[in-house]
Amino acid sequence: MIPGRKHACLMFHGYTFKRYQLLANGQVRWRCSKWHSGCRVSVKTNTIDPRDGIVLIENLHNHERPKLIRNKITYLSTGKKYPLLVCNEYVYKRIRVNRHTGHIFWRCVMIHKGCRAYCLASDDEIVCKNSHNHDAPKFRTSTGRWIMP
Ligand SMILES: [Zn+2]
Ligand SMILES: [Zn+2]
Repeated sequence: MIPGRKHACLMFHGYTFKRYQLLANGQVRWRCSKWHSGCRVSVKTNTIDPRDGIVLIENLHNHERPKLIRNKITYLSTGKKYPLLVCNEYVYKRIRVNRHTGHIFWRCVMIHKGCRAYCLASDDEIVCKNSHNHDAPKFRTSTGRWIMP
């Protein structure tokens, strides 16, 4: 452990890392914050300040990006009444609005494949529930509009 700033965190490619080790050459090793659940990804930074450059990544994450990170949201126009929601590269269709809470319920479009993931959206946040049983769909765009494969 490095003394001082005990809980220094680094966010890289949407994953979070915790500072772990100061190396003799001044580089710093950071471990994925999911290290305790078996993820063995670590990165090295040139100095204690990650803005000076990230020099090495080892291994691949064994998990999704942490959910606490602000979700990346876009909407796809489909020509239908409601757009599709794209949250962290997954696509959802609008199912209903909860009249009591005002939350909009979005369901993964791969529901027919048995995926149970869904999102609850309010005015200022979207909460994603359940994990997908498939990879994020690949998109291509045509004339500026997103198109489902
Ligand atoms: Zn990881
Ligand atoms: Zn899904």
